[in-house]
Amino acid sequence: MFKRVIIKIGTSVLTNAAGGVDEPVLERLVREIALLMESGVEVIMVTSGAVGFGREVMRSGNSSRHTEHTKVLAAVGQVRLMGAYARLFDAQNITCAQVLVTKDDFRDRDHYHTMRETFLHLLDDKVVPIVNENDVIARKDVSFTDNDELAGLIAAQLEADAMIILSSVEGVLSGDLHDPSTHAIARIDPTNIDSYQKFISNKKTLAGRGGMVTKFAVARRLMACGITVYIANGKREGIVQSILEGDTVGTRFVPADKISSVKRRLAYADGFAMGEIVVNKRAAELLSTKQHAMSILPVGIVTVEGNFNKGDIVEIRGELKKKIGFGIAAADAGRIRTSIGLKGARAAVHYDYLLIV
Ligand code: GLU
Repeated sequence: MFKRVIIKIGTSVLTNAAGGVDEPVLERLVREIALLMESGVEVIMVTSGAVGFGREVMRSGNSSRHTEHTKVLAAVGQVRLMGAYARLFDAQNITCAQVLVTKDDFRDRDHYHTMRETFLHLLDDKVVPIVNENDVIARKDVSFTDNDELAGLIAAQLEADAMIILSSVEGVLSGDLHDPSTHAIARIDPTNIDSYQKFISNKKTLAGRGGMVTKFAVARRLMACGITVYIANGKREGIVQSILEGDTVGTRFVPADKISSVKRRLAYADGFAMGEIVVNKRAAELLSTKQHAMSILPVGIVTVEGNFNKGDIVEIRGELKKKIGFGIAAADAGRIRTSIGLKGARAAVHYDYLLIV
């Protein structure tokens, strides 16, 4: 039985064929989530739909209000989206809360921990956090690929047991969507995930930003962190309960063993490092063989790049720039620089805070 579950709902689930809000689906999903919470499961929702809802609002007015500016659509639509959730959760006697984040918040150590603390307080108070990207202020060059990526980061951050990605497809499909023999692959294991890569199509639904490529990549990362991932069709009645009762619906990614919360964060470190530590050939070889736990010691460091602080994520590289892994810096960049080459100096990254990739 899962204790903490992330449920990610895509725009294509929340909109109907005419592009409007699919109220009956939204209402049913909220009821299904309420049932789950009644059985003692903590739920964090990640929802898309702000841009889609905004488009609907702007199109329904007079023609001078037509806009395709996504930030305007997101700003208008996010209120409607949350309004709908608040009303539906109220009807179930459940309080929900809005959490808007940007990718930068996962890079900055203080934001990361503040965000995590707030989530935990909300869960303690039996409030459902409903998360979306803060599209209004997100910079184009630093935004999430899509909400699947965002949901994956939160799953790792909050040590969730499972993540359910609800989309308008049945799961990872065995062939072309229009071929009648095509079915959802029921189970993917860490040992055979590579053999399913060929089934991943880069087609996207018209409504949302994401596609199967990111869903698959997120599932791969999370299963390595010990988190079960499901991809299923959110339009199906009773989908949340079916999944958790073990029915054969959608695709289930079976996880590897659990890893520590620090290593989960590091498993997601790509693109979040605040600097680089370059190690010499000998250290690179020893680290890469993964024979035994090894810290990054100043004696093996060649250069330190960037101006990171103690506690920030750093990338560990070999002299030819080959990526070795990620770690949490035990001191700031300046201090590590002054100890480069010194024998017996304190570790720059302790092995408990190091993940070799
Ligand atoms: N944040 C976007 C929205 O609320 C959706 C991003 C996505 O489709 O993944 O409209």
